[in-house]
Amino acid sequence: MNRQIKKILAILIAIVLLPALFFTIFELNSLSNNEKLITSIYESQLDMILFSVNSASEDIIARWGNKVASYHWDKIKNKKNTDENLDALLKQNKSLKYVYVVPLNNKKEYYFRSNDSSYNKTEAGNKILNLIDRNKGKIEKLRGFIESGYQKLEPAHYESDRELTHILFISQYSDEPVLCGLAIDSKKFINEDLSGKIKVAAHSVFIISVFDTEKGNAVYSSDNNQAGEFSTHRQIWLFPQYEIAIKLKGVSIEEIAQKRIYENLALLLGLILLLIIGAVIIIINIRKEMKLAEIKSEFVSNVSHELRTPLALINMFAETLSMGRVKTEEKKQEYYQIISREANRLSNIVNKILNFSQIEAGKRKYNFDIHNVNEILDKICSNYHFHLKNKGFILNCLLSPEELYANCDSEALTEAVINLIDNAVKYSSDIKEISLISELKGDEILITVEDKGIGISAEDQKRIFEKFFRVSSGLVHTTKGTGLGLTIVKHIIDAHKGSIELNSRPGEGSKFILKLKKCSENI
Ligand code: ADP
Repeated sequence: MNRQIKKILAILIAIVLLPALFFTIFELNSLSNNEKLITSIYESQLDMILFSVNSASEDIIARWGNKVASYHWDKIKNKKNTDENLDALLKQNKSLKYVYVVPLNNKKEYYFRSNDSSYNKTEAGNKILNLIDRNKGKIEKLRGFIESGYQKLEPAHYESDRELTHILFISQYSDEPVLCGLAIDSKKFINEDLSGKIKVAAHSVFIISVFDTEKGNAVYSSDNNQAGEFSTHRQIWLFPQYEIAIKLKGVSIEEIAQKRIYENLALLLGLILLLIIGAVIIIINIRKEMKLAEIKSEFVSNVSHELRTPLALINMFAETLSMGRVKTEEKKQEYYQIISREANRLSNIVNKILNFSQIEAGKRKYNFDIHNVNEILDKICSNYHFHLKNKGFILNCLLSPEELYANCDSEALTEAVINLIDNAVKYSSDIKEISLISELKGDEILITVEDKGIGISAEDQKRIFEKFFRVSSGLVHTTKGTGLGLTIVKHIIDAHKGSIELNSRPGEGSKFILKLKKCSENI
């Protein structure tokens, strides 16, 4: 890579790719921060929802507890029989299996009430007293709380009867410490008393399920579809054998955030890729332009050289003649011929350049008419025969016997064929034989100019029709030229809506085939 391209590449990297890269890194970083932020907001929102369900269960049970404590108070103070009121509470709430009040100073005098015949006072009473015994520490703490003016609820249960949860608290209405208890069927409570609140909290956006922490099975769910991981799990405060879990319906917020990150990442990578492609295209174009500039300057030096030689010859022979130094008429004739030949060469070069500049400016005009291609080629053969013979060349004119009519500009076509013959002369070495052939193939007229010269490599064949292009190796170095001949040929044939085929191999000669559409004599 040459130095200028390296410099342009460095500038491109500095002003486009590096900022894009920094921007991408910055974006990625802020994307992951955003994701963290969204996830933490989402998690705390889920936490809040689970918290509200937990509070709701505490509210329901506190309300029931209050009734138990106050009814008991009424009973002691007013000596009223308030059993019916408790019966109503037990009847209305099927999950509430029984309630009890145990004076802590005289446990034997406990009060028991149930609406369910499967629980009797003596049997359940033994269990209650046993439970109190096992949870002495907890009850002490509850006493401490009530002394500080705060009534707290504490769950307790038998391992053998995990589903029946005893909610214990110390009554605040009593002068003496009494322990109140509510025996609740946990599953029933969750399914009947808490489910309404869970449904409201889940709305139509979340799925909230309650699991047995030990067995792992769901005892309740706000939705039938529980597939996939739950985002947040929390223990139910008053039913620690169970946990409540929540997740978004459909995709989770993590999945949404992840998807967005991938989309943004793909977008950024696409952008960088586009920038890289853009940079590569710019570099390729700059290289092309630089190559063209190089070729142009080569062209200028080639043309100057081509002009200088005939000018010098004309100058020298004209001066010799004008000084009267040439004595014999024969010599004079020879010098006149040289002057005229070199003047022709000069005008050929100038014509080529003018034609090319007309083509470049899009001003080249063609006069199309129906012509017999064989007649045009025959004229070229007879005009060039002598000239080529003088240079030691054999020119084979092999014209097809058919009359080949084409809609063409005879002058332009002549110019194209002459350019090809000129090249055949210039790029022939030992075998000086050129063939000009015409034939008909289908509805195409083929005009072939064939030489046995130096040939063209496959690599160079792709480029020889480009303007100013000259092969830069071997014999071509020593051969003068402008690099415009084949460009002009191609332009002429394109204007005729024809095509050019080239068959050539280095060292084996070249075959240029011009293909034109045949037409009938009178169109
Ligand atoms: P010029 O002949 O003035 O260099 P052209 O456009 O006519 O320019 O040709 C372009 C290049 O193609 C030539 O420089 C030469 O390398 C190659 N070329 C053209 N014709 C022939 C041929 N008949 N044999 C070998 N090489 C050829």
